[in-house]
This record gives sequence, structure tokens and C-alpha cells, in this order.
Amino acid sequence: GTQVQWRPFDRSGVYMSDLESALHYSLRVEVAARSVIAGPALDALRSYISVLAKNFPGRPMVKRKLQSLDAWMKSWEEGELPYSSLRAALDQSNQTAALPRGVRWVGCQGSRPHFRGYPCSVWTLFHLLTVRVMVFMSPAGPLEVLWTMRRYMHNFFGCRYCATHFEQMAEENMDSVTMLSEAVIWLWARHNQVNNRLAGDLSEDPHFPKIQWPPPDQCRECHGVKGGGEHAWNQAQVLAFLRSHYSAQHLNMTYLE
Ligand code: FAD
Repeated sequence: GTQVQWRPFDRSGVYMSDLESALHYSLRVEVAARSVIAGPALDALRSYISVLAKNFPGRPMVKRKLQSLDAWMKSWEEGELPYSSLRAALDQSNQTAALPRGVRWVGCQGSRPHFRGYPCSVWTLFHLLTVRVMVFMSPAGPLEVLWTMRRYMHNFFGCRYCATHFEQMAEENMDSVTMLSEAVIWLWARHNQVNNRLAGDLSEDPHFPKIQWPPPDQCRECHGVKGGGEHAWNQAQVLAFLRSHYSAQHLNMTYLE
């Protein structure tokens, strides 16, 4: 049948299986919705693959595949890219360079098939990338990953109202980000804004309620109070928490093919 086996997981973990599934789904399903990729969509795809090739903390086999795909994209000089050509380049693999097929959600599993999964993995992927470029002090600057995410969402993300909402938030203040650490915090704060908007929504998995994240049981020091007794985030602690939560060392490698 279509019953998918439940994979027990640690709610405070970040799983490589979710990240590889995000790559599979975005490159083999979502981008495939366009038979020809051109103009701004082609630029968006180039920058997505380039950011992944530089920063994805994957298994050697996956990293090599992303790097060869990036080189292939850079050598593609025509203004239009048929998806079939991209797909052929993506699927050309050997023992040392390949992107595994199919999705195996672990930390992003939903209690029902229509909950969580891919959108959860997209957030996870981009949080991880913002942290990674901060840790490695990327010379490309604090906006490269955010712009890549923004353009990916705008051009490809299947949930169109999600893309519209994200574009509105980005238009509001993404350009105020001037440091690598601010990019990490910007994305964290925007994600909490989305969590807040979606709390109680029909799209919410009842087993994974939308909360202001990280909750105190994951990071007590992240939470404080203002003079008037209202909740206040301790941003320095949040940054330290994000840095360790989304670090390569913290990635859980179980359930990989
Ligand atoms: P998600 O919100 O997907 O979060 C995944 C994981 O990230 C969580 O399990 C947690 O471990 C961690 N996390 C949670 N909050 C934060 C944070 N603030 N900072 C860092 N890490 C965090 N759905 C809609 O219905 N309407 C929308 O407008 C909409 N906009 C979206 C915009 C974007 C850019 C994306 C990627 C998705 C959007 N979605 C939207 C989908 C929605 O945000 C969730 O991804 C989806 O409902 C699945 O929720 P989830 O429970 O898996 O947690």
C-alpha cells in the first residue's frame, strides 16, 4: 500500500535525510514544473545550485554531485534551459557523485501525508545555509543566501501564497541586513512571524503546533522578560543556539539510504 513507515526521531535534531529529500524534491519535482527555465527563473536556479555547491554540508557523494551540477550550469550559455537537459545532468551519476532519489522525511515527518514534509525541509535547509555562511565568514556577504532563497521561492516554490507572503516580508526589510549574523537572525525572526500567522490554521499539523521557536525546553536562555514583564528574546542567546542547532556537527545522519 501507500502507507509510509513512521521513523522515530528526536524533535531537537536536524536530519540530513530531510535535507537530501529537500534537494531531491526541489530539483526533481518542483523545478520540473517548468519545461523550460529562462530569464529570472534561470538566474534563480543558477544561484540556488551555486549556493548549494559552495555550502551544502552533505555527504561527499552529494557534495560532488552539486559541484559538478554547478559547473555544468555555469557552462550552459544559452538563455533557455530545457528541464529535460537539467534532469539528464542531475541524474548522470556514478559511485562517487549522486543525489539520492525520493523523499525520506524524518524530522519533517507529518502525522498525515499532507502535513509538513517539503516546506519544513525548505526552512531547515535555508536556516542551515545562513548559519553555515556565518561560521565560514563567506566573502559573498550576508545577502547571498537570503537572495537565493527569496528568488527560489518567488520563481519555483509550489505554494504560491507562501511565496507571495515571503516576498512581502523580504521587501519590507531584507535589505537592512548588513552582517552574516543578521541574516541568521532575520530568517529566524521571519520564520517566527510565519509560525505566528499559521498557529491554529488548517495547515497546522496538530502533532506539531506552530510555536515561537526555540521553546524554553530547547533554549531556556533564549527567553527573557522586558521591564513591563512581557516576553523578550535574548538575541545573542538565540544566535548562539541557532549556530549550534544548525551546525554540521549537530546533523543527524540516521535513515540515509
Ligand atoms: P516549519 O515551520 O516548517 O519549521 C520546520 C522546523 O524548523 C521546525 O520543526 C523547527 O525545528 C524549526 N523552526 C521553527 N521555527 C523556527 C524559527 N523561527 N527559526 C529557526 N528554526 C525554526 N504555509 C502556509 O500555510 N502559509 C504561508 O504563507 C506559508 N509561507 C511559507 C513561507 C516559506 C518561506 C516556507 C518555506 C514555508 C511556508 N509555509 C506557509 C509552510 C509553513 O511555514 C510550514 O513549513 C509548514 O506548515 C510545515 O510546518 P512544520 O510544523 O513542519 O514547521
